[in-house]
Amino acid sequence: TKQTFANMKQTDQTTQAFLNLNEDEAVRTAQEIDKAGIDPENLLSGIPVAIKDNLVTKGLTTTAASKMLENFKPIYSATAVEKLAAKQTINVGKTNMDEFAMGGSTENSAFKVTTNAWDKTKVPGGSSGGSAAAVASGQVPLALGSDTGGSIRQPASFNGVVGMKPTYGRVSRWGLIAFGSSLDEIGPITRSVKDNAVALSAIAGHDDHDLTTSTKEVPDFAAELNEKTTVKGMKIGLPKEFIGEGVDEDVKNAVLAAADKYRELGATVDEVSLPHNKYGVAAYYIIASSEASSNLQRFDGIRYGYRADDVKNLEDVYVKSRSEGFGDEVKRRIMLGTYSLSAGFYDAYFKKAAKVRTLIIRDFQKVMEDHDFIMGPVAPTVAFSIGAEISDPMTMYMNDILTIPVNLAGLPGMSIPAGFSNGMPIGLQLIGKPFDEETLYKAGYVFE
Ligand code: GLN
Repeated sequence: TKQTFANMKQTDQTTQAFLNLNEDEAVRTAQEIDKAGIDPENLLSGIPVAIKDNLVTKGLTTTAASKMLENFKPIYSATAVEKLAAKQTINVGKTNMDEFAMGGSTENSAFKVTTNAWDKTKVPGGSSGGSAAAVASGQVPLALGSDTGGSIRQPASFNGVVGMKPTYGRVSRWGLIAFGSSLDEIGPITRSVKDNAVALSAIAGHDDHDLTTSTKEVPDFAAELNEKTTVKGMKIGLPKEFIGEGVDEDVKNAVLAAADKYRELGATVDEVSLPHNKYGVAAYYIIASSEASSNLQRFDGIRYGYRADDVKNLEDVYVKSRSEGFGDEVKRRIMLGTYSLSAGFYDAYFKKAAKVRTLIIRDFQKVMEDHDFIMGPVAPTVAFSIGAEISDPMTMYMNDILTIPVNLAGLPGMSIPAGFSNGMPIGLQLIGKPFDEETLYKAGYVFE
């Protein structure tokens, strides 16, 4: 653990993946594990893990990269964090992210700019950019992220690591600072598919604190990852919309090469269609922003974190604290969300977006009727330069065109490294049936 911190401090001078290190407590935990003895059956025993800063950690400052929570010390830990601790992992610190997970480059953090592990002039992706960069730069073998519209898969793709967004309801969201509650999901980011499978088995499962969690049994996801031939006979769908216009040529070719690899191993890959995919981004920004505007009401200057001084009355506390505490992107979402939920506009926006969501769900269901999983790119491009898109929200939003529909449908989606373009990693996305992360791990293991 001490060596891990020495390495982290060195590497993080460039990467800037961490907002807050947990050194004293981590060393104490490591000593306790030493005393108790490592359980050889428990692959996670003694493993350093990093936690995205929108997962609350008892006694350890949790900011969601917002000035609003700058000095907030939670009084409990998220279920996923507790479950990792129960496996004798060591929480080494909290990772940088876009404020309240809103963004795709980690540039919306109120505190620092994280750099891509492969090129320090490039973004690490987002919103779990700190977690992905921490893993890719060799600081930790495992980090937790959250994914509302791509925030685990896209930074994993940009940094050449493995990221799993499990099925909605697979992992408890208790203790995850809510963004879009019908979309949010917690998942692991690791260097290998097998590590990822081990981590998901550890954090998944029903939780009385989150009644959207499933009571389905959690498989040992790593158990069958010993040979690469398990894709034999599988039927894979490749949506034509995923390799169409706007997708970079190198990215497209990496996906087609992966398809060939699956064919070589005895799977079939055929072209399918997700016709409503193109409406995903529009529907998502209505639904996610609406849910966010509601979830973020609790940051009122009274209950948590930041409170403006120099206030005259109660309304002033709310207005000033929220004006000063939230960054621009968060305010943009709150405005968009409250507008689309307001009485005169609900039918035109929120209700319509909800209907589009149903069409997207049906598209996936139709393809999944006769396919084991779907493959495609994670993002249309590789990591872009820091500063290149931050002043253009629409361009930034379009980066998630291939990940967002998966959240709208609640399906599992995984990003695995599948080549390079100009020295930057390309991610392959595998999308599964509800609660069938197992198939995705098997299919991902082919590229291990
Ligand atoms: N980039 C998307 C957004 O800004 C997705 C973020 C996420 O998955 N948390 O909303």
